[in-house]
Amino acid sequence: MVKKEFKAESKRLLEMMINSIYTQREIFLRELISNASDAIDKIYYKALSDDQLVFNKDDYYIKLAADKASRTLTILDTGIGMTKEELENNLGVIAKSGSLAFKKENESKDGHNIIGQFGVGFYSAFMVADTVTVISKALGSDEAYKWESQGADGYTIEPCSKASVGTEIILKIKENTEEDQYDEFLEEYRLKAIIKKYSDFIRYPIKMEVAVRKPKADSENEFEEVHEEQTVNSMVPIWRKNKNELTPEDYENFYFEKRYGFDKPIKHVHISADGAVVYNAILFIPEKTPFDYYTKEYEKGLELYSNGVLIMDKCSDLVPDYFSFVKGMVDSEDLSLNISRELLQHDRQLKLIAKNIKNKIKSQLQSLLKDEREQYEKFYQSFGRQLKFGVYSDYGMNKEDLQDLLMFYSSTEKKLVTLDEYVSRMPEDQKYIYYASGESIARIEKLPQAEMVADKGYEMLYFTDEIDEFAVKMMMKYKDKEFKSVSSGDLGIEQDQEENSSAAEETDNKDLFDYMAGLLTDKVTKVKASKRLKSHPVCLSAEGELSIEMEKILKSMPN
Ligand code: ADP
Ligand code: MG
Repeated sequence: MVKKEFKAESKRLLEMMINSIYTQREIFLRELISNASDAIDKIYYKALSDDQLVFNKDDYYIKLAADKASRTLTILDTGIGMTKEELENNLGVIAKSGSLAFKKENESKDGHNIIGQFGVGFYSAFMVADTVTVISKALGSDEAYKWESQGADGYTIEPCSKASVGTEIILKIKENTEEDQYDEFLEEYRLKAIIKKYSDFIRYPIKMEVAVRKPKADSENEFEEVHEEQTVNSMVPIWRKNKNELTPEDYENFYFEKRYGFDKPIKHVHISADGAVVYNAILFIPEKTPFDYYTKEYEKGLELYSNGVLIMDKCSDLVPDYFSFVKGMVDSEDLSLNISRELLQHDRQLKLIAKNIKNKIKSQLQSLLKDEREQYEKFYQSFGRQLKFGVYSDYGMNKEDLQDLLMFYSSTEKKLVTLDEYVSRMPEDQKYIYYASGESIARIEKLPQAEMVADKGYEMLYFTDEIDEFAVKMMMKYKDKEFKSVSSGDLGIEQDQEENSSAAEETDNKDLFDYMAGLLTDKVTKVKASKRLKSHPVCLSAEGELSIEMEKILKSMPN
């Protein structure tokens, strides 16, 4: 039998591909299962237009079998199969996708579920196998063919026998080398985990022969190993289900199964978008901060699926930094993926989705704040700081989106309040939104600088987080009201203005003030009389834009 060579350019491409396109070897299984699913889809679409063909759902499945003794992994499907020509054309020419052609031919029909389009996925099998054998019988054909290849140097093709329509792919798994381990691809538990990870939502059952230990029929103490067929994938993804059919527990289970977190999410958002870009998404707002949340190690991002097949674990482009706490997934048919499907090619659709998601989260948080205050405060305890960082970063670009989600402790209400609540309570003569910064609420309550504002009966916001003051400095104003630190020189309160005119007091005590300033050179710029004090003899006040607290933080930052 003559060995046919892969078509010219193919040869180099194949070598290059096999080891460089995919970053992870386990991907080969995703590709072969996707092909099997495509093949079943094709028979299904044929059945739609062919009365002779009855699509009996139970007859269509994908089946895996691993055999350690022969080091083979077999992936079988009951799909449309391939003729001799198709074996040559689809597997013998790299980057020729039979699925893409099928999609084009059947454009009028609803063929958009087919996953393949690049014509390279199949070759990923050579990442783990020395020899790949494909036995296939096409729908409507009496003959079956066997295609076999050891990789770059070509393939053979010969007639063989196969009882039913479909394809069987047999991988001879490579031997372990010092650097590389391949045994794992013959281990049931490992194969199951890979299927769960990438192919859990393939719409046909992925069956697997698994060994289970069972008590022998006639004895309680003796066990025997029997082989049992299990369906490994869950098939229908929760995000394709109708919202009305799902209970809060369903979402919680999903959160748990996906290991998005160990807490109970505060809220979920289920999106089925049908507009400019079609996608489904399930998003969660967690309750507790992950242990590494406020560190560099934390990685934000959502899972990204294309047609039910996992493409990326953590797609960071889908959520803005200030919502980095959001967990969940997005599934879209509209993504243009690159050849390895590990990267997205054009991000137009992705940007649209991201924008959409951002707005959904924002409105979700707004309604949580409005309707479930307690829950919102729980959330805010965990992630409020991130929102404040969000106001501050990107040169305040996102402040509009975030300002109404902020909360601060109020001197008069003795609890967290929003800026809107603060402003709506302001007496007419109050010009500014006052805040006092300090390490803790107790410390701030003792601040001499706060006394005068409190005396006036004005509410103050207590800033105990380092980021607080930076955030409001970035905002500058809220509803036209400027923020003002109680430690700033000019408080904008009448008595305060008098202070500057208390020239008499200044001259009377000039010697004393000069003496004090002399002692405190390098520490203060000026010592002066103040009307702002009540029960305290002295206080520090800031001259410029920065409050004392902010200066402290800036000084402690590494240059
Ligand atoms: P893609 O799936 O992107 O088209 P692949 O390299 O994965 O590219 O597969 C190449 C082609 O081989 C497919 O388009 C399809 O026509 C054919 N093919 C692969 N696997 C199967 C299978 N299990 N059953 C039928 N046809 C298959
Ligand atoms: Mg494919």
